[in-house]
Amino acid sequence: MALLSALNRLGLTGGRCALCANQVAQSTLCPECLHDLRPRTGGFCPECGSLTANEDEPPTTCAMCRIKPPRWTRLHFHGAYEGRLRDMILRFKFARGIELTRLFADMLTKAYEQSGGLAT
Ligand SMILES: [Zn+2]
Ligand SMILES: [Zn+2]
Repeated sequence: MALLSALNRLGLTGGRCALCANQVAQSTLCPECLHDLRPRTGGFCPECGSLTANEDEPPTTCAMCRIKPPRWTRLHFHGAYEGRLRDMILRFKFARGIELTRLFADMLTKAYEQSGGLAT
């Protein structure tokens, strides 16, 4: 619920979901948006972020990364560039969606923490 509290601090609550304008009771995001924005915990390569078909599989290093690992030391992954997350990014970049800043910051912080922070 840190996402909600971040948006609450920005004063973005008012009975409407900050992303889709659905009616909400006490939160900033409606249940559908919260569900769509949950972190993806599997079905991707932890080295490069390429997706696999099954989201329920644990993160697995892909064949390309096994042959030639990426030059970076660690990937911090929240989710695929699709659906509501893609819409948010496009809104942030091209429609002056500055109100999403805190929400993105919170999502990125969680992705960073969940993937172990700094590489050792
Ligand atoms: Zn919504
Ligand atoms: Zn990979």
